[in-house]
Amino acid sequence: MHENFSLKPYNTFGVDVKANYFAEANTVEELKEALHFSKENNLPWLFLGGGSNVLFTCDFNGLVIKLNLKGISVQPQNENEVLVTAKAGENWHEFVMFCLDKNFGGLENLSLIPGNVGTSPMQNIGAYGTEIKDIFVNCTVLNLETLEIETFDLEKCRFGYRDSIFKQEGKGKYVILDVTFKLTTQNHYIKTEYGAIQAELENSGIENPTIQEVSKAVISIRQSKLPDPKEVGNAGSFFKNPTIPSAQFESLQQRFENIPGYPNEDSVKVPAGWLIEQCGWKGKQIGNVASHKLQALVIVNATGKATGKEIYDFSTEIINSVKEKFGIELEREVNII
Ligand SMILES: Cc1cc2nc3c(=O)[nH]c(=O)nc-3n(C[C@H](O)[C@H](O)[C@H](O)COP(=O)(O)OP(=O)(O)OC[C@H]3O[C@@H](n4cnc5c(N)ncnc54)[C@H](O)[C@@H]3O)c2cc1C
Repeated sequence: MHENFSLKPYNTFGVDVKANYFAEANTVEELKEALHFSKENNLPWLFLGGGSNVLFTCDFNGLVIKLNLKGISVQPQNENEVLVTAKAGENWHEFVMFCLDKNFGGLENLSLIPGNVGTSPMQNIGAYGTEIKDIFVNCTVLNLETLEIETFDLEKCRFGYRDSIFKQEGKGKYVILDVTFKLTTQNHYIKTEYGAIQAELENSGIENPTIQEVSKAVISIRQSKLPDPKEVGNAGSFFKNPTIPSAQFESLQQRFENIPGYPNEDSVKVPAGWLIEQCGWKGKQIGNVASHKLQALVIVNATGKATGKEIYDFSTEIINSVKEKFGIELEREVNII
């Protein structure tokens, strides 16, 4: 247990805040001990995986518990499928690479997403046409009130776009201990129609890609357009892509001919990056904070010296200008602490 501990290396924004207490949990027992300490001392707690989806706006007056539970196990199902369970503290991308190495398919489009496996159900991580809900079987959680272990299946997780029960009514009530996925061992379902995957594969002269080649293409695209948190602090997309009623979209189309939209029943999803760019934010810097020059949806700690409050205020200004120009209220994807 550390006291008065800097969280700067533990959040990808690189914001320099302190926690009163900081503990690492390598086992469920250590996790329970940390929770016991919190309860005894009347301290709030906060779980941390890779710190790639949090913005600390101030010091944390409580105990930060970094989840380091490790281990991956494989259970063959039938000749086509396998169940793979990874503990919460496994690094997501390393887990994806482990599966690809064994030729298990289903996670390749989710290559290079920062963070840990245990956090992946929180916002149903997704990229390039895949979300974890597509291959998710269940997760084991510790109920923080009863300290009993429970299993949440697909239905109970209520996954939505960057959403799950863990961000809604289950918020603060559970800690995810491990996650199980159902992956293919042959006849993989290759998804290349999303984003620039197809073009990237064509550039490399690949016609019938393997899952490993899809992963390579995804990695290459991500590296070319997303800032590496090791070089400049960020938490990926800062906002969710808003979904608006079709009627509102049609009326916006009359004013903004080129507005992109992805229809879904009676609503349309609009890329937040486009809206932000149209308001003149792409590449714009105020003080220590900027919108990334290649991807307006990503807010960066441009000088490395930004406070969480500065980043938060910058995001508020973006929300206000998008609201004013388009009448659309952007919602933050990043967890504000
Ligand atoms: C460059 C970059 C690119 C990104 N691209 C994508 C992308 O393509 N798609 C996408 O979906 N996301 C993306 N993200 C966001 C981020 O990678 C994911 O949200 C990831 O799942 C966060 O994992 P983490 O372990 O770092 O979470 P943390 O930041 O450590 O935690 C996030 C939240 O979950 C809580 N939490 C953490 N672990 C647990 C647990 N085991 N049980 C209960 N609560 C927990 C924390 O208290 C916090 O509120 C990107 C981020 C970056 C920096």
